[in-house]
Amino acid sequence: MFDVIIAGCGPTGATLAAELRLHDVRVLVLEKEPEHVASFVRLVSLHVRTLELMAMRGLLDRLLENGRQRTVGGAFVAVPKPAPRGMEDAYQLGMPQPVVDRLLEEHAVELGAEVRRGCEVTGVEQDDEGVTVELAGGERLRARYLVGCDGARSTVRKVLGVGFPGEPSRNDTLMGAMEVGAPPEEVAAKVAEVRETWKVFHVGAFGGTIQRVVVPAVAVSEDRTATLDDFKEGLRAVAGTDFGVHSPRWLSRFGDATRQVEQYRVGRVLFAGDAAHIHPPAGGQGLNLGVQDAFNLGWKLAGEIRGWAPEGLLDTYHAERHPVGEDVLNNTRAQVELMSTSAGAQAVRRLFEELMDLDEVNRYLLEKITAIGVRYDFGPGPELLGRRLPDLDLKIGRLYDQLRRGRGLVLDRTERLTAGGWSDRVDVIADPTAALDVPALLLRPDGYVAWIGDDQQDLEEHLARWFG
Ligand SMILES: Cc1cc2nc3c(=O)[nH]c(=O)nc-3n(C[C@H](O)[C@H](O)[C@H](O)COP(=O)(O)OP(=O)(O)OC[C@H]3O[C@@H](n4cnc5c(N)ncnc54)[C@H](O)[C@@H]3O)c2cc1C
Repeated sequence: MFDVIIAGCGPTGATLAAELRLHDVRVLVLEKEPEHVASFVRLVSLHVRTLELMAMRGLLDRLLENGRQRTVGGAFVAVPKPAPRGMEDAYQLGMPQPVVDRLLEEHAVELGAEVRRGCEVTGVEQDDEGVTVELAGGERLRARYLVGCDGARSTVRKVLGVGFPGEPSRNDTLMGAMEVGAPPEEVAAKVAEVRETWKVFHVGAFGGTIQRVVVPAVAVSEDRTATLDDFKEGLRAVAGTDFGVHSPRWLSRFGDATRQVEQYRVGRVLFAGDAAHIHPPAGGQGLNLGVQDAFNLGWKLAGEIRGWAPEGLLDTYHAERHPVGEDVLNNTRAQVELMSTSAGAQAVRRLFEELMDLDEVNRYLLEKITAIGVRYDFGPGPELLGRRLPDLDLKIGRLYDQLRRGRGLVLDRTERLTAGGWSDRVDVIADPTAALDVPALLLRPDGYVAWIGDDQQDLEEHLARWFG
């Protein structure tokens, strides 16, 4: 019997497996694809909060070697504005998703996760003691918990009959790589003209003679397939020409449905990533959201398995992450509306562009996209409570480097506090030089501030609340 089975080894499943392994949880990841699917290359942006989490686990350098840094300015609805004050040095990291997926899986395996490829989950049953997972081919496996990280069309969600309420797709977008017959100057001029109105439209270099084409589809397709004729039709509809496209390397289609599971936990089964929420790719947030779900869930589920989790800790996963997901659904829907070609939407977009000249507005929106604006509701307290703590210089080095093991951390400027009976899962760093406005704080393994104060007894009450 495994402690945890994870269905799906996308970025969410791989991240969760690594987080669980930090706490020595016996974890099995079941992935239906026999090998990494790199046949089509979706470019993704990793945003500030994800990069911070990667730095906390020592993964940032590997990602930096493989990605391209860009300013965070313009990440909301592709309005080309500079970064707001204080975020000038912040960046988003762009790279092909298969590279991110591979690095995260390698990390999980290095930490001891078992990943079985070519294993498709087809059935799930749960009882008081655990979950039985059935694979295509009939093999049955047992675990104490199952986490569905099996993407937008989650089988785990479907076989358990978990609702996925929301809005169906109203607009499909086609994305592919192909040769373009028309001369480059002609294409460039036309693209500039069309993009005045159609924001979701692009024809540009992809590598060699191949061009990346993004164009609205003329009609929504339920089965999500794409053909070269769909591209030609879409191009003719918005640009008046199909640019003589031919010889496609890969073709894909995505919609703008927004849906979210009502409960992230159903007994011994939990949902994370696209299995829990889908939304349009505006702002490039989906992968980031899933990775952050995994960081929120990992240490809580590990606490449950190890037996130290206080009553109700696992349920805080839904309580904290559902509202964050809901906010992303909301902001991506808003961005889709702002990219619409209707005269009314274009007028609202112009107004938005003016508003984004106000530093506060620009910052507010970018804090959403980068997820550094997330504040969990831990009850009343100072502004920093429930928020992420940026990296800091400490006497012993960088703060984030001290978080590699996924443990709690008391950062103490008073040099008086101890972790008492929690020292097997919470570290203490006493450092009067730490650049903090507060005497001491408790950081959860996912890097959120769970307590602020200077009193040992008060600290212990909060250690008990979070670490049993
Ligand atoms: C065009 C486009 C651009 C995007 N750009 C960005 C971006 O810039 N930034 C960003 O953050 N996000 C972006 N996204 C979203 C991002 O790709 C997804 O949110 C992300 O892949 C979700 O990760 P996941 O691990 O939850 O699910 P997935 O990546 O879907 O992984 C699920 C895994 O589960 C496996 N699986 C499925 N069913 C089963 C089963 N029954 N048994 C076993 N295994 C199974 C699948 O094979 C897959 O490997 C973009 C999406 C699109 C469409």
